Amino acid sequence: MTEVKSLRLASRVGQIQPSPTMAVMAEAMRLKAEGVDVVDFSAGQPDFPTPEHIKLSGEKAIADNFTRYTPNAGMPELRQAVADRYRMDYGLDFGGSNVIITSGGKHALLNLMLALVDPGDEVVIPTPYWGTFSEQVSLAGGEAVFVATSEDDGFRMTADVIEPALTERTRILLINFPANPTGAVIGDEEIRAIGDLIEDRDAFFLWDDTYARLMFEPAPGAAFQYVQQKLGERFMIAGTASKAYAMTGWRIGWTMASETIIKACGSLQSQMTSNACSISQKAALTALKSDQAPLAEMVAEYLWRAKRLREGLLEIPHLRCGMPGGGFYLFPNVSHYLRPNETTTELSAELLDEVRVAVVPGTAFGCDGHLRISFACSRQLIEEGIRRVKRFFAARADS
Ligand code: PLP
Repeated sequence: MTEVKSLRLASRVGQIQPSPTMAVMAEAMRLKAEGVDVVDFSAGQPDFPTPEHIKLSGEKAIADNFTRYTPNAGMPELRQAVADRYRMDYGLDFGGSNVIITSGGKHALLNLMLALVDPGDEVVIPTPYWGTFSEQVSLAGGEAVFVATSEDDGFRMTADVIEPALTERTRILLINFPANPTGAVIGDEEIRAIGDLIEDRDAFFLWDDTYARLMFEPAPGAAFQYVQQKLGERFMIAGTASKAYAMTGWRIGWTMASETIIKACGSLQSQMTSNACSISQKAALTALKSDQAPLAEMVAEYLWRAKRLREGLLEIPHLRCGMPGGGFYLFPNVSHYLRPNETTTELSAELLDEVRVAVVPGTAFGCDGHLRISFACSRQLIEEGIRRVKRFFAARADS
């Protein structure tokens, strides 16, 4: 195709950065496709296949010709099933009309940013943070306000950390819990304190609970109930079937909020994507309604891997690494090994080049000096990865 020389793209394209995590994943996949023996620690997705009973529902949906449009906001049974799941798991008070089914968790978040954020509005985001948060705020014309959590405190977000960042213009406080990339969770008391902080302000509390069903300890349901009671319609959730049910490719997520906000999201969605995939909706319905036992098995395996990988990494001198409270990432501090003026972007490129281990640099999460290492891969790869990473840092120490 002949390229138009001076093609002008809309200015909003220049305002956002493409996802760096997806770029690393794509590079690792490209190398693997070329037959290179890569240990891929960059994956932001479960290595488990989608559980059999969920896949069968998708197959049945196709066989039954359930392949047409559904209502824009999703199948009513699925909207209700999402609300029921949150009632069962956390005691939260949402009904089906408080739910819109989206094409994945990213879309669930984008719906809210577009529905609530105007130019000049601020969205408070604790760091290290998942890059999509700030890019979506920019896309909506708002401003991301970052508040740094401390490594010494396990990257835990507290009311004290957040308070100075709140202003008249704060529209949303976005809490991702457990967090990508740190796996940090927040204690019961802190969640309540954060809810109290927001209570008298004209701001929303948005919980991105993408990794909440992959927690290594019981979720603080009572604290979230407290926040919901305090904030009422200003408490919102963006969720997804992607990580918990190993369904990243099916693209099902959900936004939960007041009916007014859900209707606003519906208007936006009706002109952008319409309903999420009908077949995937059937599969997600099964995922949410069926026995949650496969989830517990996956969580037990993630916990084993987290401990083993951390133990292996901690054998590297000067490397620090906390234990995540959930999810499938470690976020070790490797700053001791950075050369003058070097960032983890260069270090991780070298890691891939020299020992064929793919990780995501901390720079992608607004926190240089760290690497995000995913343990969503087999035990065997974890052992091989530990060997290679050790070799890499030993060589750096000698150089
Ligand atoms: N939120 C967080 C913190 C994530 O890490 C991700 C995916 O990596 C998502 C939301 C979106 O998930 P998806 O759009 O794949 O459902």
